[in-house]
Amino acid sequence: MKVEAVVNKSFHDWFLQFKGLNIEIFFKDVTDKDITDVLSAKEKSIEQFLTLLSPIAEKYLEDMAQTANKLTVQNFGKTIHLYTPIYISNYCVNNCIYCGFNLNSKIKRKKLTLEEVAEEAKFIGSTGLRHILVLTGESREETPLPYIKDCIKILKKKFTSISIEIYALKGREYEELIKIGVDGLTIYQEVYDKHIYDQVHLSGPKKDYLFRLEAPERALSKGMRCANIGALLGLNDWRKEVFMLGIHAKYLQDNFTDAEISISIPRIRKNASRFEPVCDVTDINVAQIVVALRIFLPRVGITLSTRESPEFRENLIPLGITRISAGSTTVVGGHTIYEGGGKSPEQFEILDERGVNEIKVMLESKGYQPVLKDWVSL
Ligand code: SF4
Repeated sequence: MKVEAVVNKSFHDWFLQFKGLNIEIFFKDVTDKDITDVLSAKEKSIEQFLTLLSPIAEKYLEDMAQTANKLTVQNFGKTIHLYTPIYISNYCVNNCIYCGFNLNSKIKRKKLTLEEVAEEAKFIGSTGLRHILVLTGESREETPLPYIKDCIKILKKKFTSISIEIYALKGREYEELIKIGVDGLTIYQEVYDKHIYDQVHLSGPKKDYLFRLEAPERALSKGMRCANIGALLGLNDWRKEVFMLGIHAKYLQDNFTDAEISISIPRIRKNASRFEPVCDVTDINVAQIVVALRIFLPRVGITLSTRESPEFRENLIPLGITRISAGSTTVVGGHTIYEGGGKSPEQFEILDERGVNEIKVMLESKGYQPVLKDWVSL
């Protein structure tokens, strides 16, 4: 596989070279020796990354896991960063067919008042967490930028690191948020295959594939400290999606060398949309994804959410995970305010309901140091 260098190209323009790549044909030629060669190579090429995602590589999962574990400890020590999400609104104008917040879902809609944001912040702060992820559904009308900024100013009093997972913004809007203390952007492309993207995003501004794809570049070029990207596993053949996700992270890491780049690998979970995954992604597949990403990108962070069960999360930690959520809820006001009623207002089902202390105790018992704070913006 011949890969062109990135010379003044956006990720989209650079990745077009892989459009004609037929990974099924590529996988047919992968041999056992190719896998062992990748494991002993010093730096892994893009072609070698794809080799690690091949069906035949599953046979070498144990060897890959050992290499991945070594690289993780070498680059991150035995540390795991903890954060929690705070949902401030579930209003959404998009029709993503896989999400319980989509505009057609008959769920109870809510947007927190600033007093409620302060209440949630006080509770989350009392758990010791100092990193927070602020989420909304995507509605510029219900949650305009000035409202989000007001919420950030309140959260800034309790948290040293604030990431956002909201609608894709223009570069100057990211700049405004960075100025008031936002240091991280989480934005998932959901599915890199453009055709499937169009089929699962029926309407709304999120239908603009390119505007979303280039959001991390816009934010990082304005000085965002961290970018966390992801693909929603279950919408397409996971091997194709993880390949694109991995090279997207590599592109960002190579082009924004001061930034922290991380990856999330959420699997579709039960939610009010009743959407069923189109493609199976088993636990073994997720383990292969984590180790392949770690071996290809030793310095990239890998986040695992509470969509996964407690046992599975614990098993994946040594393979390359660097960040997990704790004390999570996907309900607006779910930490302190929500009292039930109406159809489930969860964005998706949570499988690991443990609180911050339980997660800390679990990590320590496994010889890991839970990190609650590693960044203070000056
Ligand atoms: S995935 Fe995001 S944008 Fe799509 S419906 Fe859900 S909340 Fe809205």
